[in-house]
Amino acid sequence: MSATEHVRLLVIGGGPAGFTAAMYAARGGLEPVCVEGYDSGGQISRSPRVENFPGQPGAIGGADLAALIREQAVQFGARTVFDDVVEVELTASPFRIRTSGQDFLTDALIIAMIATKDSISIPP
Ligand SMILES: Cc1cc2nc3c(=O)[nH]c(=O)nc-3n(C[C@H](O)[C@H](O)[C@H](O)COP(=O)(O)OP(=O)(O)OC[C@H]3O[C@@H](n4cnc5c(N)ncnc54)[C@H](O)[C@@H]3O)c2cc1C
Repeated sequence: MSATEHVRLLVIGGGPAGFTAAMYAARGGLEPVCVEGYDSGGQISRSPRVENFPGQPGAIGGADLAALIREQAVQFGARTVFDDVVEVELTASPFRIRTSGQDFLTDALIIAMIATKDSISIPP
């Protein structure tokens, strides 16, 4: 395990939501770290054909789209980490985030993980 690294913003999740957040944060100069987790690129990577993405007329393969979304975030300075987050400690600032490979302290945290219909409970 390497030394704890202190960052300004850490994003948990390497799907469209996580990378979109990371892209805007990177463009704003926050040098975010985006921890992608076990499902690198997110669920959209498994779509054979995405026809409804804004700015993408026609269809694009989901894996290609995910790669483009990641590339755009990285272009602006986001850093990606291919670990899982295994522990978060939010009781004190900066927050402590442990991944399967590294410990981070982060001033801010965006959580963009596990968007499945089963993981979201909408009250009636
Ligand atoms: C087969 C399929 C086809 C689809 N086709 C379309 C389509 O054509 N058009 C459309 O609009 N939508 C489609 N969707 C839906 C679309 O993929 C999702 O709405 C979208 O991926 C949600 O993005 P997200 O970033 O919120 O979450 P997700 O894509 O679910 O990403 C969650 C991220 O969180 C990460 N994560 C989870 N736990 C941890 C952890 N402990 N540590 C670190 N990271 C973690 C995962 O690794 C993943 O990278 C499809 C979905 C599937 C499964």
